[in-house]
Amino acid sequence: MIIAIDGPAASGKGTLARRIAAHFGMAWLDTGLLYRAVARDVLSAGRDLEDVQAAIAAAKSVNAETLNDPGLRGPRVGDAASIIAKIPEVRAALLEYQRVFARQDNGAVLDGRDIGTVVCPDAHVKIFVTASDEARAKRRFLEHQSRGESVTYDDLLVDIRRRDARDSSRSAAPMFAAGDALHLDTTSLDADQAFAAALQLIDGARKTR
Ligand code: C5P
Repeated sequence: MIIAIDGPAASGKGTLARRIAAHFGMAWLDTGLLYRAVARDVLSAGRDLEDVQAAIAAAKSVNAETLNDPGLRGPRVGDAASIIAKIPEVRAALLEYQRVFARQDNGAVLDGRDIGTVVCPDAHVKIFVTASDEARAKRRFLEHQSRGESVTYDDLLVDIRRRDARDSSRSAAPMFAAGDALHLDTTSLDADQAFAAALQLIDGARKTR
C-alpha cells in the first residue's frame, strides 16, 4: 500500500505521515528533505540558488545518507528548497528515488507537495492536509521556540505565505490536491486528533477499494 500525504508548509503532514507509517509498519519518506538537501548542497558549494546547473548537479548527486542532518529543518533551508524546487530538471532527478522508495514490500508513506499528483498518482490513499496560515505559523513558532531558536511568529507567517505562493504557482508539479485526494483540515485539531481523523480517512478509503 502507498499512502500519499500532501499539503502546504507546517500543515502537520510530516508528523501525520510519520505516525501513520509507524502505525501500519510502513516505511516513511519526507520528500521535502530531498529538496532541502539539494538547496543545502548548492549553498555549501558557494553557488547561487538561481544557478540552475548547480542545482541540477546537486539533485543528481543527492546523498540519501545525509537526510538526517538536523540543519535541514530550519526555515531558511525550507525557503531555499522552494526556490530550487521550481526547476523541472531538479524535480526529474529526484523523481526516481521517490518512486523506488514507494515500492517497498511493506508499503510506504510519502509526504510532500506532489505525491498524489506526480510521484505516486496511483497511491491507494491520498490525503491533502491543510490548516489556516495563522495556525501553521503558530505551530512552527512553538517548534522553534522549544529548540531554543530565535525566530518571530510574524517572520514565520511571512515565510509560510511566501512558500505557499511559490509552491502553488510554479509550472513544474505545482502543489494542489489530486482530484481523488481526501481533505483534512487540521486548524482546530491537535496532533492526536489529526492522527485519529487521518486513520478514519484511511480506513474508509481502504474499505471502498
Ligand atoms: O515539506 P518541506 O517544507 O520540507 O519542503 C520544503 C520545500 O521543498 C517546499 O516548500 C517545496 O518547495 C519543496 N517540495 C516540493 N515537492 C515535494 C516536497 C517538497 O516541491 N514533494
